[in-house]
Amino acid sequence: MKKKKKFYITTSIAYTNAPPHIGFALELIQADVLTRHHRLLNEEVFFLTGTDEHGRKVAEAAAENKKSPEVFSNEISAKFKKLTKILNISNNDFIRTTDKTRHWPAVKKVWLKLKANGDIYKKKYKGLYCVGCEAFITKKDLIDGKCKIHQKVPQAIEEENYFFRLSKYSKEIEKIIRDNQIRIIPQTRKNEMLNFAKKGLEDISFSRPRKDLKWGIAVPDDNNQTIYCWADALINYISLIGYADNKKSFKKYWPADVHCLGKDIQKFHCLIWPGMLLSLKLSLPKKMFIHGFITVDGQKMSKSLGNIVEPLELVEKYGTDPVRYFLLREIPPTNDGDFTYQKFEARYNSDLAKGLGNLVARVITMAKNFKFQIPKSNLPVGGQNPKFKIQTDKTWRKHKKALDNFRFNEVLIAVWELISFCDKYIEKERPWEKSKNQKEVISNLLFAISNIAEMLQPFLPETSEKIFRQLKTQKSKPIFPKV
Ligand SMILES: [Zn+2]
Repeated sequence: MKKKKKFYITTSIAYTNAPPHIGFALELIQADVLTRHHRLLNEEVFFLTGTDEHGRKVAEAAAENKKSPEVFSNEISAKFKKLTKILNISNNDFIRTTDKTRHWPAVKKVWLKLKANGDIYKKKYKGLYCVGCEAFITKKDLIDGKCKIHQKVPQAIEEENYFFRLSKYSKEIEKIIRDNQIRIIPQTRKNEMLNFAKKGLEDISFSRPRKDLKWGIAVPDDNNQTIYCWADALINYISLIGYADNKKSFKKYWPADVHCLGKDIQKFHCLIWPGMLLSLKLSLPKKMFIHGFITVDGQKMSKSLGNIVEPLELVEKYGTDPVRYFLLREIPPTNDGDFTYQKFEARYNSDLAKGLGNLVARVITMAKNFKFQIPKSNLPVGGQNPKFKIQTDKTWRKHKKALDNFRFNEVLIAVWELISFCDKYIEKERPWEKSKNQKEVISNLLFAISNIAEMLQPFLPETSEKIFRQLKTQKSKPIFPKV
């Protein structure tokens, strides 16, 4: 028997300084579509998500809420876990960086290996630290003395830290990005990262004094220092699959086939993470898929503006699949996109209720009214009308091409073109009027609908299953393998 191809996909892990907003929901949903798609291709897929819980930002948010970092982080992490459930995300596991059994041993092993390779050293450092970024930043990252991303004045810090010798791998990282050894999607992000690498990467602070930051993992051989949260967080991609004990699952799944992440953390993933992997002599992830930000009514989501859209509320109001549909259809996969309730309801009404819902209801009703025998098993119908078959095949080709290129919105555009093709066909053929080709027309429409349900399986799993149930076919299979 041919060995199944493996596919290892991750989201970034969500920072537990605040409850989830729709930006992370988008990332989860995008990764879930890829996951379900690869499972339908009969690959052995492992999909990992989780929460990043250490660092100053979490410690500060906990203090603001008058809670210990442990209690606060537990609460927020539980919300992210709940989010994966309500969005119908089919992740195989959920990693928490506070997990002392499954995560910490790998972080410590990595640290000691980097050190043994001569890539960790101690030095006195003076710099500007942005808590929002959880990183030292330079003058280039400032506008009017404030961090470009967080609009906050960074802290001037002078301390003795451990550094990671990223500069040593700078040339190699540049080459890796240029030659697509790690393919960065989209191209604009690749160019950005390549430009950074070309300028030469500097060594990066990899620890903080323990007296200033207790909320984190202590450096294995130096209790006075805490491992930098990124040098802890990035390890999640290898810790959970068993790097520390060199488990079978590690050998099987590493390297990751795709890391999904947002543009705000691309430097850590595209520059620092490869540097660490080069030092560890581990294979490099194959692809980095980078999405943009979601604005609300054209503005950045922020606590102070009070415009944060909570995905939990959205799902309670509209249901899971409408939220999945909106984010995949309306938000360009690799650019920024905008959310408004008007846009959401417009898509909901025109595409889901009227478009898809209406077509399926009409065709099933006609089939029942005319006592059309809906086949019990998979539908071999269709194809009697060559135009119909051609249109469906064309949609499948677009579906495949767009999905291979992470263009989720284009897949959905193609499927909805097929829906409107069916609508026009119905208007033209008027199958409710008794005619001799009534049977053929309905048969063609059932064929199209079963294909549409199949095309939507990775995107709108519940909706797709509902259609299959109405067609009484067995096409849909459970895709929640437990590990
Ligand atoms: Zn910042």
